Parts: sequence; C-alpha cells; structure tokens
Amino acid sequence: MSKSLPVAVVTGSSRGIGRAIATALAADGFAVTINYNSRRDAADEVVAEIEAAGGRAIAVGASVAEPAGRTALLEQTLAAFGRLDLLVNNAGITSPGRKDLLEATEENWDLVFGTNLKGPFFLSQSAALSMIDQIGAKQIPSGKIINISSLSSYAVSANRADYCMAKAGLQMMTWLLAERLADDGIQVFEICPGVIASDMTAPVKEKYDQLIAEGMTPIRRWGQPEDVAKAILAIARDLFPFSTGERINVDGGFHLRKL
Ligand code: NAP
Repeated sequence: MSKSLPVAVVTGSSRGIGRAIATALAADGFAVTINYNSRRDAADEVVAEIEAAGGRAIAVGASVAEPAGRTALLEQTLAAFGRLDLLVNNAGITSPGRKDLLEATEENWDLVFGTNLKGPFFLSQSAALSMIDQIGAKQIPSGKIINISSLSSYAVSANRADYCMAKAGLQMMTWLLAERLADDGIQVFEICPGVIASDMTAPVKEKYDQLIAEGMTPIRRWGQPEDVAKAILAIARDLFPFSTGERINVDGGFHLRKL
C-alpha cells in the first residue's frame, strides 16, 4: 500500500463551507485539491494558508458543471498527488434571483441543476472509476464520497424551486452510489447542513437572524462552516466504518418536528 498522504478533492473550496472542509482535512493529514470556479484569488489564499501550516494543497480552476472542468479536476489531482481517497461534492449555487416558481426560468434551472446535481453525479462517477482502479492496484485502502446537500432538500422555498429539487436529488444520488459502490470498497455519505454563515447566506442574514432568535432551530445559533467540516472529518477518519448511504444533519436540530 502507498505510504503517500491520503488525498481529498473538495469542490468549491475557495470560500465558505468548502474552505473550512479543505483546511480541516489538510490539518488532519490529507493533501487537498482546492477547487474554484471564478475566484482564483480566494483559492490561492486557501492554498497559502494550508502550506503555511505545513500541509499540501493545489488550486484547480474548474467548473463542476462542465465535463472538461471535471476531467481537469481529477487529472490535476492525480498528477500532483498520485492518488484520490476522498471526494467532497460541496460546490453549489443558490437559485439566481430567487424567483417565485411561477416565474422560474429554464436558464436558471440548467445552471442550478448543472452545478448542484449533474456535476456532482458525473464527477462521482469519474472519481469512483478512478478509486476502483486504485483500490485494485492497492494504491489506496478504500474510497469515500461525501455529498453536501441542504435542508432545502426537504423544506420548501417556493422562490428557490430549482435549488430545492437539485438538493433533493442529492439524497437519491447518495443512496444509489452507496448501494452500487459498497462492494467496490467505497462508502458514500450525505451531509445535510442547516443555515450556515457564508457568502451564500449573507444576503438573507437579517431574515435568518430573526428566525433563529425566534427558535427556528433548537440549538439557537447560526451554523458555522467549521461545524460542517467536523462532520466531514469524522467520516474521513473512518469513524463510520459500518455505515453507508447515511444522511448526517448538521443543522442545530432544524429537521426535528415538534408539537
Ligand atoms: P459559497 O460561500 O457561495 O461558496 C460556494 C463555493 O462553490 C465557492 O468556492 C465557489 O467558487 C464554488 N462554486 C460555485 N460554482 C461552482 C462551479 N460551477 N464549479 C466549481 N465550484 C463552484 O457557498 P457555501 O454557503 O459555502 O455553500 C457550499 C455548499 O453548501 C453548497 O453546495 C450549498 O448549496 C451548501 N449549503 C449551504 C448552506 C448555507 O447555509 N450556506 C446550507 C445548506 C447547504 P468561487 O469562489 O470561484 O466562486
């Protein structure tokens, strides 16, 4: 078995939740590919932070919505680090303009589904094929794929129908991959974050400040990107060896129904 560092690709890790996941994995001994879509400056900053702390990272500019982007992401990772143990499908966009579903456009549908569901599916397919080869060649002991969905996969927001439906699709995608890849030595998980402080939620900060203060979540605070990163670390450290297809909520208890 290779003695090189385990390797993780974290999509959309130039900012927000992905950045926290990538830096936590790097601090835990993973070599990490930092993926960005347009903010190269932000990705370079993450690489510099990881290297300054003694870790290994590269930045790869690639859209997960594009076949060429997905290919570049995996090829550049393997060229730099020689193996791939963990894929975190984190990159995502909210519904542009947050239009009511009666005004939703096909253009936005394609954008959101391309980034939030089609991209993760086909990237997982390519990563799984590569991991299967590496497991067979004893280059890696096993593989893991983690999908970042959202409470929007089950809580309706009529002004983000495309986002909600794409995120709902990630749960079935997790189940499908988990069942198909178990015999190949690859576990698949879904992390379902609640309301997390990031650039994505900055425009709706006041709305959520109020809802949280009113008790929207039993744990009455904003989630932080580091809360999500800790759940990823537990999986990456192999603390769930007999689980797959599992959804882990990181949401302050938002998913609980109460009477
Ligand atoms: P964010 O702060 O807006 O960051 C998004 C990241 O995704 C950035 O690194 C961005 O790269 C990257 N990205 C966007 N489109 C991409 C593409 N086509 N290809 C590759 N990378 C792309 O978002 P966030 O809040 O951290 O969200 C991260 C994930 O968590 C998303 O899937 C989101 O749906 C999910 N989530 C978030 C929350 C929340 O409350 N924040 C809750 C539940 C789920 P650039 O820097 O280059 O733009």
